[in-house]
Amino acid sequence: MIDDRPVMLITGGSRGIGAATARLAASRGYAVAINYRAEREAAERLVAEIESKGAVAWAIQADIGVEAEIEAMFAALDARFGRLDVLVNNAGIVDQVCRVEAMSFERVERMMRINVAGPFICAREAIKRMALQHGGKGGAIVNVSSAAAHRGGANEYVDYAASKGAIDTFSEGLAKELASDGIRVNVVRPGVIRTEIHASGGRPDKPEQSAKGIPLGRAGEVEEIAGGILWLASSEASFTTGAVLDIDGGV
Ligand code: NAP
Repeated sequence: MIDDRPVMLITGGSRGIGAATARLAASRGYAVAINYRAEREAAERLVAEIESKGAVAWAIQADIGVEAEIEAMFAALDARFGRLDVLVNNAGIVDQVCRVEAMSFERVERMMRINVAGPFICAREAIKRMALQHGGKGGAIVNVSSAAAHRGGANEYVDYAASKGAIDTFSEGLAKELASDGIRVNVVRPGVIRTEIHASGGRPDKPEQSAKGIPLGRAGEVEEIAGGILWLASSEASFTTGAVLDIDGGV
């Protein structure tokens, strides 16, 4: 253990919404564990930036689509910090724009493995460490869903939308299951946010193109999502569990 800072684990923290969440959490006194899959340099740069401000950060590689890597990540977290207070299930993927009739089994399986099974197993490992019944001190889980969960993702990525719908339902059930264990579970549901995820789906210009369909007239910024995540994680949200916070410009 380093000191008495609360520890927040953020999956997919090397860039985008996860990196903004890490910066904000560190500025508010959390020690942040920043998980990444491939971009080690980006994660290490973020750690250096946070540490240069006198805060505590640590980068940990793990593919959250692989159970053994998740288990190893939590074991390493135990060794590094000896505690866990908040899990942010942020890592997620989209795939190339594609209609359902052209989707392969492998595509759908990968989507569900990374966007659904990964967060489930991360939550399982967090529960073992935070739940009162397991000797933990309680805590919070914030799951990052998407406005696509209620909009459906038609003609773009229905598989992605369905994976986020699963996250919403998972969170509703888990919040009830863990209420007596001192763990609150909530969802942040971003609309279109300016990150690199759109390029990975073959639509780098999606934020600009979507702006006219968004009541507030623009795509969102990563800091606007991080603020919601930090609020749900904090004691200011002590009576909030099973909630979905839409941060989407009004879509
Ligand atoms: P992003 O910029 O593409 O960043 C994704 C992050 O997830 C990266 O740190 C990436 O790490 C990590 N990641 C991807 N696959 C992973 C895996 N298998 N294991 C571990 N880490 C993995 O995405 P973002 O836009 O910030 O999205 C973050 C979350 O918000 C996602 O769940 C996404 O679905 C959700 N969301 C985003 C938007 C939006 O418009 N941006 C809207 C609604 C919801 P590497 O770089 O190392 O691969």
